[in-house]
Amino acid sequence: MPASSECGAASTVEAAIGLGANLGDPAATLRSAFDALAALPATALVAASPLYRSAAWGREDQPAFVNAVARLRTALAPDALLEALLRIETAHGRVRADDPAQRWGPRLLDLDLLLYGDARIDTTRLRVPHPHLHQRAFALRPLLDVWPDASIPGIGPARGLLPAIDDGGVVRLQEGGPGGQS
Ligand code: ADP
Ligand code: MG
Repeated sequence: MPASSECGAASTVEAAIGLGANLGDPAATLRSAFDALAALPATALVAASPLYRSAAWGREDQPAFVNAVARLRTALAPDALLEALLRIETAHGRVRADDPAQRWGPRLLDLDLLLYGDARIDTTRLRVPHPHLHQRAFALRPLLDVWPDASIPGIGPARGLLPAIDDGGVVRLQEGGPGGQS
């Protein structure tokens, strides 16, 4: 048996990470987060989507979000990947509010594990595919940019979902353009 390389094909999976920010300089934060994802051990950044601006979801009394998706190939297990995402959020200054009222509130950086190969995971810490992926244009649009044939386990091809949902004013940002604050 040949020794497996850092991202050897046999032991790796493709995963999709949703990135979101709506405080500070969201576009700069997302570019920095892409760099941090690319630097993860046993992980390669396959593609980084364009940035999209979208109205805040869940709570509307806050600045618009900038969202994107990273397509990774990784040998990290799902829980290790989640831990890495939480560390990157913290490194970008995110403070996790215990108050449930702060859920969906403003944040410097949110990283969600959207897809992990064809895995279906449902634990207290981790739900994959992300339970709202199929309903959120701000996640589906960038996902399809980097992974046009992505399939959401239990749901079906991602490509078929967009026409059926409200796009919620998701607008692609110009490269080097405004950071998403209105
Ligand atoms: P949201 O992303 O729904 O706005 P948070 O980022 O505040 O909420 O919630 C993060 C918590 O959700 C994490 O501590 C993590 O344990 C849990 N979680 C469950 N499934 C996932 C997932 N697929 N990706 C990221 N976090 C998840
Ligand atoms: Mg999150």
